[in-house]
Amino acid sequence: MEFIDLKTQQEHIGDEIRERIETVLQHGRYILGPEVEELETALCDYLGVKHSIGVSSGTDSLLIAMMALGIGPGDEVITVPYTWISTAEMIALAGAKPVFVDIQPDTWNLDPELLEAAITENTKAIMPVGIYGQTADMRAINEIAQRNGNIPVIEDAAQSFGATHHGVKSCNLSTIGSTSFFPSKPLGGYGDGGAVFTNDDELAEKMRQIRVHGQAGRNHHPLLGVNGRLDSIQAGLLIPKLKIFPNEIRLRQEVAARYSEGIAGVEGVSAPIIGEGNTSVYAQYTILCEDRPAVEARLQSAGVPCVAYYAVPLHFQPVFDSLGYEKGDFPVTEQVSDRCLSLPMSPYLGAEDQEKVISAVVG
Ligand SMILES: *Cc1c(COP(=O)(O)O)cnc(C)c1O
Repeated sequence: MEFIDLKTQQEHIGDEIRERIETVLQHGRYILGPEVEELETALCDYLGVKHSIGVSSGTDSLLIAMMALGIGPGDEVITVPYTWISTAEMIALAGAKPVFVDIQPDTWNLDPELLEAAITENTKAIMPVGIYGQTADMRAINEIAQRNGNIPVIEDAAQSFGATHHGVKSCNLSTIGSTSFFPSKPLGGYGDGGAVFTNDDELAEKMRQIRVHGQAGRNHHPLLGVNGRLDSIQAGLLIPKLKIFPNEIRLRQEVAARYSEGIAGVEGVSAPIIGEGNTSVYAQYTILCEDRPAVEARLQSAGVPCVAYYAVPLHFQPVFDSLGYEKGDFPVTEQVSDRCLSLPMSPYLGAEDQEKVISAVVG
């Protein structure tokens, strides 16, 4: 059994993917070719957002978003300590200071009730993450951001692309949405890729320029930029993947429902909780285990792969020592990182395999 099955999908759309790759080989515009624009249009339609900009990864997309907002030294950006390192890493790389706010005990996303106290006159953006496939309480976060001088909100939706919050799609919930097409993400390519999204024309134009070295035209660079371009092959093969994505989300939700049913009532183990007004795309199906080593051992002896993501939260990472955080500063994050365990998840996870996982968890 694979932790994330990336191959079975090819039984459904492998021919279309090969055709898409062949087309790029024929026309030869390997970077930012016509497929990139085609994908961007399809992404706009899917999300209902005005601008989609395909970029090189879900890490570069965060940096590009912050550069477009003019974030740099002396600025603070609020995010969570329970996330993949990219989120805080890019804040620091932009020259700003990551300011952590703890997560909610149910959704494991930024706790809006703790947000306002972390805002200072230097706060230049708030960067909530949609961990494991559901968004943060973006409605509450946007409201606080607006009330405190219209602070821009960048949604790190690398894991929540396809999810909805009160009926609106993740990536279209705030000033800028950012996602990743890394192979194991809900909408994954066969290499690195990502995208930024906005309804703001001016920010969109800036992000397009920053993607290509701040270039506005031949021999004209008004902005500082990066090499953040998306490959035509990745964009091309993401187009058929996006077509079947709504059905894959449905399959993921079915897998998740079977898991939750199977582990309901097991002592010391709890199923993920989906926040009010949210749907999840289950980038991961993650449980909390009071005795994680015991559950890991049972899964291992049954031959079931599992991963404890972010078992060391960001405020304990040596690279962020200088931020001065200490043990106990983010109690919910610390408890979740001690207990979390992600189980095999993919739209094509077979019933038999899933039974095996459930019986190992139940013990
Ligand atoms: C994967 C991920 C990223 C980075 O995306 P890449 O495409 O791998 O650069 C950023 N934030 C979160 C929350 C992620 O899960």
